[in-house]
Formats: sequence, structure tokens, C-alpha cells
Amino acid sequence: MDDLFALDAPFERVSVLLPLPLDAAYDYKADPAWGLGRGAVVEVPLGKRRLIGVVLGPGGDDVPDERLRGVLRAYDVPPLPAAVLDLVDWVASWTLAPRGSVLRMAVSSPGALEPPPATHVLTAVPQAAWPEGTRMTPARRRALAALDGPALEPKDLAREAAIGPAVIKSMLESGLLERHALTPSPPFQPPDPDRAGHALTGEQADAAAALRRSVADRAFSVTALDGVTGSGKTEVYFEAIAAALSAGRQALVLLPEIALSAQWLERFADRFGTAPAVWHSELKPKVRRETWRAVAEGTARVLVGARSALFLPFAELGLIVVDEEHEPAYKQEDGVAYQARDMAVVRARLEGVPVALVSATPSLETLENVRGGRYRALHLAARPGVAELPTVELIDLRRDRPERGRFLAPALVRAVERTLADGEQVLLFLNRRGYAPLTLCRGCGHRLECPNCTAWLVEHRLLGRLQCHHCGFSGRMPRVCPSCEAEDSFVASGPGVERLAEEVLSRFPEARFQIASSDTILGPEQAGEFVRAVNAREIDVIVGTQIVAKGHHFPWLTLVGVVDADLGLAGGDLRAGERTYQMLHQVAGRAGRAERPGRVLLQTHVPENPVMAALAAGDRDRFLEYEAEQRRAAGMPPFGRLAGLVVSAPDPERADAAARAIARAAPRLEGVTVLGPAPAPLALLRGRHRRRLLVKARKEINLQRVLRDWLTPIRLENAVRLAIDVDPYSFM
Ligand code: ADP
Ligand code: ZN
Repeated sequence: MDDLFALDAPFERVSVLLPLPLDAAYDYKADPAWGLGRGAVVEVPLGKRRLIGVVLGPGGDDVPDERLRGVLRAYDVPPLPAAVLDLVDWVASWTLAPRGSVLRMAVSSPGALEPPPATHVLTAVPQAAWPEGTRMTPARRRALAALDGPALEPKDLAREAAIGPAVIKSMLESGLLERHALTPSPPFQPPDPDRAGHALTGEQADAAAALRRSVADRAFSVTALDGVTGSGKTEVYFEAIAAALSAGRQALVLLPEIALSAQWLERFADRFGTAPAVWHSELKPKVRRETWRAVAEGTARVLVGARSALFLPFAELGLIVVDEEHEPAYKQEDGVAYQARDMAVVRARLEGVPVALVSATPSLETLENVRGGRYRALHLAARPGVAELPTVELIDLRRDRPERGRFLAPALVRAVERTLADGEQVLLFLNRRGYAPLTLCRGCGHRLECPNCTAWLVEHRLLGRLQCHHCGFSGRMPRVCPSCEAEDSFVASGPGVERLAEEVLSRFPEARFQIASSDTILGPEQAGEFVRAVNAREIDVIVGTQIVAKGHHFPWLTLVGVVDADLGLAGGDLRAGERTYQMLHQVAGRAGRAERPGRVLLQTHVPENPVMAALAAGDRDRFLEYEAEQRRAAGMPPFGRLAGLVVSAPDPERADAAARAIARAAPRLEGVTVLGPAPAPLALLRGRHRRRLLVKARKEINLQRVLRDWLTPIRLENAVRLAIDVDPYSFM
């Protein structure tokens, strides 16, 4: 079919990149009258398929004319901005992903390209102008009566007059109705930068002025906005957004968990008088389409989104903000393994605009860039008004032990009692979904494991299922132990939030509690309802995972109990200490955000661990120095470079063979060390056997080039896959 699209007349050749896992662009012929320049979005044939593609520039001359196929159509959308195309190249060369895979993230919204549905309204033609011999029917009469007022959309007319589309059609044909085209109203109202925000404190005003200046400079710069939780960082970067708006520029705000940020959206609307555009993976197709187009056409002035928003085609970007920049959620693990915070800095550079990296616990990477003078830092040291930072105390579980089968130590129980007696709220934090992380047989010790993964099955008692948190496997609790055939012999080991809630219920029967995890809070609406219920004081005790750790501001919450502060330290991955510090600090920041002072109790078996010691002493910088020293000594990021290679295959033999072949081809270079292969900690994942290699290089080495030279020539069997992760965050 497509080959019939003949262009015998003069044509030009264009080079088109397709959103497929391919690095190369393909040549097509196109009608020169279309004027397809760089960035033009087109539809092209590939085999039997029709695909969206993006023109990168003129084509080459290596394919003969008769083999060249034609561009099917050009979409009526603004061309992708140069900065987006450059970002695609940049991300591809940094992550070693095929360019087409990266492009896919920029055109992930194919429906966006179709013109928005044309809408029109109907009015009645005055009787004097009716054609001769017009027939009147009851249905037609009802329609005319319904139009004895403002014009109506066809569907509204049909409803009000109780008529079908055929009546409307025939009335239009017989000249009784008239159609008037409507230009669809823009889906986004412009935020108003001139509405008053809070009166800023001195240090807030200084930081805001500095950010406003960097927006006015219209030049690339990176600012780390580093301030304690509740110090007003959001208020401050709102000022930078206002500056961008006043200068006629768009602003992009990245948040780690956009779906759960109802409070953020409310604050934005309070400050700017309207909602921002929003971007995340759960958007309905229509909204997605409108948003993509509005960003490209410049009618969406501020967009807040998850990491994928980084690839949107902003028409006139003036500012990027990365809130909670330390969050591991900015690292995409599947597909193109990119770090959105780092790539936000790249995009800002390509656009020539400032970027603000915002956090109460900046990443070591950011702090190292500040230390080296590449980034500027702005500090906020105080919470405005009366709110003070909470006190943090450690509970040494080796001495202050919970009773058998219980998880709250006596000191924490007493603190909960007191808080509830004062009519205030408690958060018990445990970053573990479900009832118990491990289920074992009392008779023989057999552990229930996922059949597809090297992982224990997690009991979810509320659902009555065992689940694998890696592959989604789900099954019933077996009645008979598969190993020793004992009946009803399984016992739960260790707590998840559901089990902890059981303890809350038995210890504090009067308290109203709610479990807050991704199993109980499934989307923005439920999150909004949860926040409302907490603020209306319909909940006394929140038993929550990390989904309550961030962003929320609960004025009546004064006690945070961290049930297992050591949880994140196990496993020994590179950032375990840093992440644990950040998460616990973040959780601690939920306490005492209004007039009532907050208290945080951390249950730990290792109170001497530098993470715990720093949290208790409120001495972040000492911890960071310690952590930086360890990493520097080991040549680890940000002082050295790392890449993870994961080889996987349906059977262990092929995985081993491929991993060994890759290791044998490894370069022997000064400053580059290749570790492994070894079975990955998750040696089996979704039925695939996995082997890991870790490549470590000195900072000044071009790791990407080393990897490309090494890995490009390697041919793997079809069943074997190699995933490359430059600067890995996961070591599983
Ligand atoms: P952060 O982003 O640093 O955690 P926020 O910007 O969320 O801090 O501010 C914490 C709380 O303090 C919010 O409820 C905010 O509205 C309030 N706040 C911040 N700055 C001021 C100010 N200057 N005056 C009054 N309230 C403020
Ligand atoms: Zn599994």
C-alpha cells in the first residue's frame, strides 16, 4: 500500500529516526513542498507498519531511488526543538542506549500528534430564511425550541431535545440549523506570577532573589537549594517560577512521585491562581494529548511531572526545578537507564537556562559539584514561624527490646501512649509492604520463595495472598509444606506494615489507625483522601511505608517512630548509607511541622553506625564527610565511575557462557577494573538467570568509550540479553 505512495516528481531525501531500539536513522523521500526540517514529526512506513518518526536532517545518497520509500504524512505539530533532539543524542551516548529508544520517550504520546477534535455549536436558522416546503416534525420542533437561547454543542442539543444524531443531520441538510466552528479553548490557564505569596523570611528572600536573578540571566547555571525540611524551599522556588513566567518563559518542575502530590498542586494553585499542567505515566490519553501539544505550542506555562517530563518539547523553557533531587526514583532502571536529575542538568545546559536542584538532603553528587565550584549552593537553615526541627533519639534494640513477636520497644510504646493522650498524631514508619517479608515452615525451616525470582514471597494478609515484589507472582498460602509435608506449619517472620498494624490495634485499641502503603493508597484520589483524613484528625496512627515520607505536611503529627531504622543498610550497596540517611531524615521531617514540637524515635540495632549517630546528633555534614571519605578512598562515585552489566538468559548455562565471554573480552586498561562475572543477588528474576559484572573506572576515564569499544563487537545469542547501566543505583 505504502509503496504506491509514489513521488515521481522531484523529491528530497530526509533522514528519519524511529522510536525503536535502533541507533541509526533511515532515509525516506518526501515532497519538498512539505518543507520537512530538522525536528519535523512524520509518519513513515517500515515493513508493513506505519510509524512515527522524527526528521533529523537531509538524507544520504547511499540508497538507490527505487528502494527509497516515501514519508506518508507530516504531522501538524511544531517541530521537536533542537534541545530535545540534542538531549536524545546526549542521553543515548551517555547511557549507551540506542537513539531510537531514547527518542521514544520524547514521542511517547502518539495521540498527541493528531489534531485536537474539532468542535462546533449549532444555532437555529430564523423561520424567514427557511427553504420553501420545509417539513416540520415534533422532533424538529423540540430541537428549535431547545435552541431558543445560546448555541449548543450537538451532543447537548441531542440531550435537551431528546433527539438523535439523524435528526440533527437532516436539519442541517435542510437548512434549519447552522453550524459554527469553535476554536477549542486552551486546556491550561496561564498561572499568574503577580499574586502574592507568603511574606518571605530574610534567608528565603535572599535565596529567592538569587534564583530570580539566574532566571533573568537566561543562561545555564546550576543552583543547589539546600534547606532543612519545612524551611520553605518550595516557596522559594515558586518565586523563581514566577520570575520565569514574568519573563514570558515556561517552567518545568520535576517531582519524584507526581501521582501523590495533591498537596503540592494545591499550593501551586494557591500561589498562582490556577493548576499547572501535569505529566506522569497514568494520564488519560486525552489529557496526555492536550498536554503534549500545549507544552509544544507554549500554552502550558508551568508543567510539573515525573522524570519522563524531561523529554517534553517545551517551546520556550526558562527554568527547570528538580525537587527532592536526591530521590532514587529519578533513576530509571528499566529500558533506558538514565538519571533524570543529571539529565535535567544536561537539558538546562542545552537550553541555556538555569536549573535548581532542591533537597534537604542533597545527593553526594550534588554536594561534590558544589564543593568543586561547578554548582552554586543556597542555604535555608530555619523553619519559618514557630516550627522547630524535631528532636531525634535512638532506641537501642539490643537493650530496649520489644516482647517476643512484637516490634515496638517499650520506649516507643510509651511515647505513642503519651502522644495519643495529648490528642496528637503518630506516624509509625516501616518501609515494608504486606504482612511479613518471610514465611517459613515451623517444622523444617523451609522458606517460601518465588518460583521465578531469587526472592522470598511476601505475605499480604489483607489480600490473602503471597506475592513476589519483583515479578508480581502471586499465590495462596500452601496448606502443606512442600518440603516436609507438615500441615498448617507456616509462620510469619519479621514485620510488614500489616503486621505492625495488628500490634497497634492490640496495644492501642482506642486509636484510629490507617495503613498507608502502595497497596492501600492506589492513586492521587486516594492519596488526597488520606491527606484530608489525617488533617481532619480522623486518623490517630499512620502505619506507613515510604509513600508517607515525603512532602506531606501534617500539622498534628508530632511523633514519628521508625520501627526498623537499619532496614536500608543491609545488602551493602554503594548508596545504602546515604539513602538510609536521606529517607530517615525525610521521615523525621514529618514531625512537628506546626506549633507543636516534634519528636522522632529510631529503633536500631546499630546506634553506633554513622548514619544513626548523625541523625541523633542532627549533624548532617559530619555524616556526609564520613560518607564522602569512604567513597573517595574506594574510588566510588562521585569520585570514580561505575557501570553495571547484567547478562541474562533463560537458563544458567547460557547466562554463564555469555558472561564469561564478555569478561574474556574485557579491556586491560590502566585505571579500569572489571569485577565478576558473578551471579547477581537477584540471580533469578522473572524466570531469567542473571550474571553481573561491575566496571570501575577512574574519574577521568571516558567510561562510555571503553564500554562501546568493548561491547559493540560482541555478538550474543538471541536468548541472551545484556543490559548496561552506567552509574547504577541498583546492584541487584
Ligand atoms: P520545604 O519545601 O523546605 O519543605 P515548604 O516550602 O513546604 O518547605 O514550607 C513548609 C511550610 O511552611 C509550608 O506550609 C509553607 O506554606 C510554610 N511557609 C514557608 N515559608 C513561609 C513563610 N515565609 N511564611 C509563612 N509560611 C511559610
Ligand atoms: Zn518473582
